[in-house]
Amino acid sequence: MSLKEITCKTALHYHDREFASNWDLNIYRGCGHRCIYCFAQYSHKYLDTEQFFDDIFIKTNVAEALSADFSRRSWTGDPVNICGVTDGYQPLEKEYVLMPKIIETFIRHRNPMIITTKSTLLLRDIDLLKELNKVAGVNVQVSVSALDEIIRKKTEPFAPPSVERLGMIGELNKWGIPCGVLMMPIIPHLTDNIENLDAIFKTAKENGAKTIIPQVLHLRGNAKNVFFNYVRSLFPGLESRIKPLYNGAYVNKNYLETFYQKVASIRKKYNFPSDHRENFRNECRRLDTQLKLL
Ligand code: SF4
Repeated sequence: MSLKEITCKTALHYHDREFASNWDLNIYRGCGHRCIYCFAQYSHKYLDTEQFFDDIFIKTNVAEALSADFSRRSWTGDPVNICGVTDGYQPLEKEYVLMPKIIETFIRHRNPMIITTKSTLLLRDIDLLKELNKVAGVNVQVSVSALDEIIRKKTEPFAPPSVERLGMIGELNKWGIPCGVLMMPIIPHLTDNIENLDAIFKTAKENGAKTIIPQVLHLRGNAKNVFFNYVRSLFPGLESRIKPLYNGAYVNKNYLETFYQKVASIRKKYNFPSDHRENFRNECRRLDTQLKLL
């Protein structure tokens, strides 16, 4: 792996899709979790696959740049999503330890935070997260797509086991930090079976997750070639079953309809809210309002 330390002028990045928030903070570029379906590659079109996973850029001054962004008069205190197109708790974070400085900056500026991650390394920073939750609010979204360890090891080779990620929700709940599950991306004919979906819902429920947002794999830009190259070598015979479902980047409507029907019945079984996305948005709005009341 090649590491490149860089500096950035600004830390916050605005985008139009209001999924978690309109603001992202990416402290790295590239990601060492090496998920075979990595959606984030579309945002790094100028890099080829091996570069995205192997050449990781570290924004060494990101906490200082963030502090400057938060200090601007125009900054309105919106919740910020860590990290939209990388993982802030990827393996390299053990060495670079950037996240504690980031959380401290959020605490100083009393700014709410949403963290999306596949890593239990987040628990290293539990004391800071507890503090931030008190002064502004934190929401953690744990990303999981397969509970079966054989599949998980092939699809997300450098991320911790899914069951440990879901267990982290229980730990965060003890401290009143609200958590949800991003059940994504579900891969057709690999992780879309009832057993896998049910097991994720069940484990999430047992650990106190507030929401589950499911999403089927999409393959924008070079993510498609990369994904099918991996599928060919890791799951012989699967490519010919998945490919017909994709005309472009997105799975076809018939598949999607059946998938969401399947999810709806499991959701009902475990009594999760019916509109996960709306519940999640409400949680983000709550963070925003909480800050304004302080
Ligand atoms: S954790 Fe996210 S950004 Fe990192 S490789 Fe996996 S999908 Fe890509």
